[in-house]
Amino acid sequence: MMQIKLSGREDGAPKITVRDLVAGYCDESEQEGPVVGYGGKLNIRPAFQRNFVYGEKQRNLVIETVRHGFPLNVMYWAKIGNDQYEVIDGQQRTISICQYVGDITKAEIGEQGQYLSGEFSINWEGAPKKFSNLTRDQQNEFLDYELSIYICEGTPNEKITWFNVINIAGLEQTPQEIRNANYTGKWLMDAKRFFSKTGGPAIELGKNLVTGEANRQKILETALRWISHDYDNSHKGIEEYMADHQNTENADEIRGYYRNVVDWANKVFPNQTSVRVQLMKGLEWGRFYNQHKDESLNSETLEKRIIELIDDDEVENKRGIYEYVLTGDERTLSLRTFDEKTKIKKYNEQKGICVAKNAVCGNAHFEYGEMEADHIKPWRLGGKTDYANCQMLCKDDNRIKSGK
Ligand SMILES: [Zn+2]
Repeated sequence: MMQIKLSGREDGAPKITVRDLVAGYCDESEQEGPVVGYGGKLNIRPAFQRNFVYGEKQRNLVIETVRHGFPLNVMYWAKIGNDQYEVIDGQQRTISICQYVGDITKAEIGEQGQYLSGEFSINWEGAPKKFSNLTRDQQNEFLDYELSIYICEGTPNEKITWFNVINIAGLEQTPQEIRNANYTGKWLMDAKRFFSKTGGPAIELGKNLVTGEANRQKILETALRWISHDYDNSHKGIEEYMADHQNTENADEIRGYYRNVVDWANKVFPNQTSVRVQLMKGLEWGRFYNQHKDESLNSETLEKRIIELIDDDEVENKRGIYEYVLTGDERTLSLRTFDEKTKIKKYNEQKGICVAKNAVCGNAHFEYGEMEADHIKPWRLGGKTDYANCQMLCKDDNRIKSGK
């Protein structure tokens, strides 16, 4: 059963202050070691977390917020064992606080009884002050600040559902990073070697085709979306795939699949000059591959068509060209439309009469707002978006003519 409890507010959820959080704070990340706090019971940087560091400004804002006693956004911990936790969201805020204060349980005590700990200074009433520069009273006030932490306990599936439901805004983690946190295992470790390294194999292979930061799990997410046919971004497909493969020995399947997508795209669209890469990068290559891999496609014929479409002023969305040459769906091209000036002029010229042939309206009169502009000669037959090729039709006839 999924349980979510707010620290200090609900039964069984401990009250957690800055004092509790920084106790035993230890950062061994330089030596590839753990980052822990909360008396050693909190894993602040679990294996799935990236090495992402707050800028100085954001870091100082966190300290300012605590100092003034203003509320920090709620953070999320996952309970992973008896009194053991992992930070799901709030890693950077936690580290900011821990670095500013330091581990007070091991700190030396100054002449005024203050803790001599902490790593950086912030502006405090006009002067830069480290934690060790504060009076004991100021320190105590800071240490007594109570944090709001949701502690959640449940199966990976339950946590995913919950994250989706609350759809946390301003998450420090990307959705795929959260999914990774919920499906750790051999499969994920292997997949990350391939997909999640900046300059790693997946980026190297797909450098002309995919976008996004590998270390923020964007490439892994893309590959998962493609292999699970998750086209509507519901992410249900991704989650099912990850759940099914969580305990698989290795990630051979998705790695091989990704290679197939890239190989197919390179074979079908071999012209990858810098201008072309502008158009190709970030397209839904996995979807194209899934839908067209069994068709016999002639790359030379496609290339000729692509050149024509790039030169065609009627085509406004040049990035839609690749999908169009595969599917023939004109909607991907964002073809030019008639502007208001042309439509009004044409409406007046027609005196408000629908000029459709075999008109279902019987060539009746309509108000301007009830009519739509139509290309007399359609784009696919070479018709342009100019005054000579414009006619105003009633909505019914326009729909019939365009076959919608
Ligand atoms: Zn009509």
